[in-house]
Amino acid sequence: MQEYFLNGHSREERRGKVESFSRFLRFKGKIEVYLFWTIVKSWVRKQMKQISIMKWLLEIEVDKTRAFYSKDIELCDCLYCGNFMEACKHVNSPDMEIFTTLGINPLKPSHLSEFGEIEDGLRLYIGSYHIVGKLVKGAYCTDSVWNDTNTVEVGDFTFGFDKDLMFVHDEFPSPVLQLRFEARIPWVLDRKPED
Ligand SMILES: [Zn+2]
Repeated sequence: MQEYFLNGHSREERRGKVESFSRFLRFKGKIEVYLFWTIVKSWVRKQMKQISIMKWLLEIEVDKTRAFYSKDIELCDCLYCGNFMEACKHVNSPDMEIFTTLGINPLKPSHLSEFGEIEDGLRLYIGSYHIVGKLVKGAYCTDSVWNDTNTVEVGDFTFGFDKDLMFVHDEFPSPVLQLRFEARIPWVLDRKPED
């Protein structure tokens, strides 16, 4: 026996229609989610800029990195750090190009250590900076692997990108990429360290 509703469809036909309609809604939902993520991804890509820098291909957000470095960041005020800051102001501009390209203010390292004199008045400094972005292609450096394959020498600096992050500022936006450097810096301050 068939029951007919006002629109002339049987209960079975009606159930079939409801099911196909809800299948349609689920499908539509998936399409919407897909479109949403496509838009989000293309927006993120627009913010992220791919740049090839020496041995690496990076995806970075220079504006966000620059915005971070324009903030007041608490810095160490010891004599060694003071010497590094002062010396940086006198470094040849081509050597500093990597910093400007990446949006870094070299006067605001996230970490800096001085290791004493290594040769005629030059002192070894090791430190790091953070940038908003990620490494797409190229080798990372680590504490134990720091060589020609994963570092580049520019003037008195040697650079690499660290696999592990350290000393990241609380307010630093993600994704975080760590630039590590070694630098051979002269003593430029009038006041000398007592070592
Ligand atoms: Zn210091």
